[in-house]
Amino acid sequence: MKDEDRKVLTEFLGECWHEWNPSFTCMKCGIMASINSSDYLTFDTWEDFGALKDAIIEAGKWFEFRRFADLKDPENVGCGNECDTNALFELWFIDKDRFPELILEAIKEGILAT
Ligand SMILES: [Zn+2]
Repeated sequence: MKDEDRKVLTEFLGECWHEWNPSFTCMKCGIMASINSSDYLTFDTWEDFGALKDAIIEAGKWFEFRRFADLKDPENVGCGNECDTNALFELWFIDKDRFPELILEAIKEGILAT
């Protein structure tokens, strides 16, 4: 995933996409850069999947996002509200790599405002 996409998702979670100054302090939130741990979310883990899912629910947008994703599933395109009965959808949807991509698309299409 590109950095600019990870930045969008990080800010969707309400977290800082750090910008380091020469003394390794973030110019936006003030934390110090750490040597041992990653300072940026990668959005390829189940932990990040869960954080994104919780953020959508907290924003009150789960229904809108779920419907948006339904219509993006190649197996479901064109079946409207009948898609909810397609059990294959969950296998396609609950995917730690696809899920963040769907959220990015939803943000770009205005389904999930940031
Ligand atoms: Zn920061």
